[in-house]
Amino acid sequence: MLRTGTSEVVFERSGFIPQNGETGTSLRPTVIGHPFDEPDRRVSVTSNIVLSSLPDRVFARLAPWMKKVSLCREEFLFQPDDEAEFIYFPESAAVSEFRILEDGRMVEVAIIGRDGAIGLSKLFCSSPIPNCVQVSQAGIAVRVNTAEARRAVRQDPEMAFHFYPFIDAYIRQISQKTVCNLYHSVRARFCTWLLMVQDRCENDVLLLTHEQIARTLGVYRPRITCIARDLKNKNIIDYSRGGISICDRAAIEAQACDCYQEIRDYTDLDGFNGNAVTLH
Ligand SMILES: [Zn+2]
Repeated sequence: MLRTGTSEVVFERSGFIPQNGETGTSLRPTVIGHPFDEPDRRVSVTSNIVLSSLPDRVFARLAPWMKKVSLCREEFLFQPDDEAEFIYFPESAAVSEFRILEDGRMVEVAIIGRDGAIGLSKLFCSSPIPNCVQVSQAGIAVRVNTAEARRAVRQDPEMAFHFYPFIDAYIRQISQKTVCNLYHSVRARFCTWLLMVQDRCENDVLLLTHEQIARTLGVYRPRITCIARDLKNKNIIDYSRGGISICDRAAIEAQACDCYQEIRDYTDLDGFNGNAVTLH
């Protein structure tokens, strides 16, 4: 019997399997948790919207190369120029894609949860990953072997049409965040980002530090601490060490920039309701 609840997963770093023969705590992709299920068991139930939207025939073509894995917060899935051995379809995890500047500063260009996939374009091209990809909120994802998935698409080109809407949504999000990063206030971006993270992982308490949020938004930590303190004083959010919760969703939506609704409008989070879908 397949397990679908995150409560059955223990997110322990010690259980991780280093990739490519690496060991230790390198920033290279040491992300892959212990397999969520037995290696020879096929994934047949998923709450990822991309996978659950596929016709049974398409899903069945990819199923042999799927495996559920747990992703640990702040672990790196990819560094720039990595080959994407796997495409990740988050279920309960939220994953951020960062652009890194030459001086080491970084800013988030996309956040992906059950509404999308990381590395989806690698179904169609073999170019390296352009950005740094890091887990923002721990959770479960389905990973698919990229080479095998690409081979399946080459053999059955009609499969590709089922992925195009999600690539389109990804491009739209990056376009919107480009505007957001350039023109909108740090306070508005902070509120937008908190809402986007919670929409994707649906946790009441988001395990986030001010330092992590500052890195994500590309600003200095004291700026985030100052904004967070003000929002807490207004009873809009609450936080303690390492955790933030939204107390007044209407108030934080009112302070978020338009980007939140723009991105949400073309992301099918409402219709899905976060329930697992049985595919066959
Ligand atoms: Zn914005």
